[in-house]
Amino acid sequence: MTILSFFTRASRAFNGHPAASKLLVLCTISSGGLLAYAESQSNVGSPIVDPNQNEPRKKRVVVLGTGWAGTSFLKYLDASAYDVQVVSPRNYFAFTPLLPSVTCGTVEARSIVEPIRNIIKKRNGEIKFWEAECVKIDAANKNVSLRANFDKNLVGNKEFSLEYDYLVIALGAQVNTFNTPGVKENCHFLKAMEDAQKIRMSVIDCFEMAVLPGLSEEERRRNLHFVIVGGGPTGVEFAAELHDYFQEDLVKLYPMVKDLVKITVIQSGDHILNMFDDRISTFAEKKFTRDGIDVQTGCRVVSVSDKEITMKVKSKGEVCSIPHGLVVWSTGVGTRPVVRDFMQQIGQADKRVLVTDEWLRVKGCEDVYAIGDCASISQRKIMEDIFTIFKAADKDNSGTLTVDEFRDVVDDIIIRYPQVELYLKSRHLQDVTDLWKDLDGSDKKEVTVEEFKLALSQVDSQMKSLPATAQVAAQQGTYLSSCFNRREHCKEHPEGPRRFKSSGQHEFLPFRYKHFGQFAPLGGEQAAAELPGDWVSMGHSTQWLWYSVYASKQVSWRTRVLVVSDWTRRFIFGRDSSRI
Ligand code: FAD
Repeated sequence: MTILSFFTRASRAFNGHPAASKLLVLCTISSGGLLAYAESQSNVGSPIVDPNQNEPRKKRVVVLGTGWAGTSFLKYLDASAYDVQVVSPRNYFAFTPLLPSVTCGTVEARSIVEPIRNIIKKRNGEIKFWEAECVKIDAANKNVSLRANFDKNLVGNKEFSLEYDYLVIALGAQVNTFNTPGVKENCHFLKAMEDAQKIRMSVIDCFEMAVLPGLSEEERRRNLHFVIVGGGPTGVEFAAELHDYFQEDLVKLYPMVKDLVKITVIQSGDHILNMFDDRISTFAEKKFTRDGIDVQTGCRVVSVSDKEITMKVKSKGEVCSIPHGLVVWSTGVGTRPVVRDFMQQIGQADKRVLVTDEWLRVKGCEDVYAIGDCASISQRKIMEDIFTIFKAADKDNSGTLTVDEFRDVVDDIIIRYPQVELYLKSRHLQDVTDLWKDLDGSDKKEVTVEEFKLALSQVDSQMKSLPATAQVAAQQGTYLSSCFNRREHCKEHPEGPRRFKSSGQHEFLPFRYKHFGQFAPLGGEQAAAELPGDWVSMGHSTQWLWYSVYASKQVSWRTRVLVVSDWTRRFIFGRDSSRI
């Protein structure tokens, strides 16, 4: 699955190479690994720095995570203004939307990752990277405990801690198994690069096993039954990739079992891709039916064993089991243990993910920010502040609000409560004062507080939480870095909307998400896309749009060239089925 127009901002972050460096990077492709080597050489001889030894004069910013959110924060941060340290157990950024392509060898794993040290070395200040896992966040003492997971034989401090002035939590999410028995033990996940690589090997194992002598037809069928749990964008894209892999490549290599292969998608909702426009869901279901992919909707998986997957058919209440060779579990995201532990400390134990305000500050603690999949913005309801807004707008204290008085505050209201704009759009209202007309059809010049409340009473129904996508994560990272870069300036010259509860203005504008659309590749060189303005596009041309968007949104020229050459290689030679 994918998104459209991957994130204008993120792309800007990753595209700004001067022509000379593009050329240099291109040269490195042929000399494989030269870049990494050069990086390692540039560190030779530099002093080894203990993170807590330096007495920092600048404010210390610790960033946890090098995914979409963390990386886009680092790309834009003016690192010269802070003492910045980044922590992640993986020393690379992975372009997750292409992970399904890695599972079948359409693109190679290394083509979609960029070493984090390549990214941070381009910043004008020094950013330190520590390859370690955060095991504890202690907001009271402003420090994080870290553990490096290296080979046992390596010597050195594997556990250490960092103190911070500002903490940016960009830890992403983990797979949500909904505590379904047997899932952790018997299913594959598709969340990280290692998962995609494991799936690639396991798919080939299933075929090699199925052709061994001495197996019954039933056993061969079982080995070649690929089940995907979850009909969201990732599950659907993986099913489509697998189908193409089989039809285009494996069928020629394993002709003896070509009639025994089966792909099943199990979806608990009534349709696959149900977060997309109905036309896309229908198109995808029809395409899968034509391709022979079995889509079982309205079924909830209750357990998974090494041989069978058991599910409940919601409409009939029946429980049935189907044998499988490989199961990929792709049903949404859950909270990482370190984040869950932190949420308990700050009184957010009852929440699903870390809750922040519109400025991405974690609620309930100081100087901690959370961005990306690990966080969710709690949007302020206009109804909570309705009387304060009325009072602030009613300048002459007359007890009624005139059109002019309302116009004076309306821009601030729309910035502070973006749901107002969405509500106006949903009701096709041109002007906010149309809300009053909407109330009783009359052309009122003034409203009382009760009328004002009634006019805005439905506005909060437009509040929606943001999806867990790279598009959101990247925009949040960029937004937060711009706040950090202007922190000092904005203290003196606040740029945000007026404070209705107190005097003055907020320092910054609140975060605003801009949706650029979403893709769903469906296999057979066809894709569907939902583009801004309710525009839906499906078919072969959309697949070409997908290729161009994904090529352009690569994190570096190096990965862009690698990905495009992988696609070309696949067209010419097919996918590589070696079990490596
Ligand atoms: P992540 O990108 O997951 O990054 C989390 C970071 O935290 C990683 O660097 C990780 O190593 C690090 N980390 C984890 N634990 C620790 C720890 N204890 N200590 C320190 N660091 C830690 N979104 C789209 O918009 N479009 C798509 O097409 C799309 N396709 C997808 C396809 C797949 C297969 C998947 C899995 C996701 C896809 N997404 C897509 C969703 C997108 O990848 C996520 O929304 C995005 O990665 C979230 O970014 P993040 O920075 O919050 O988390």
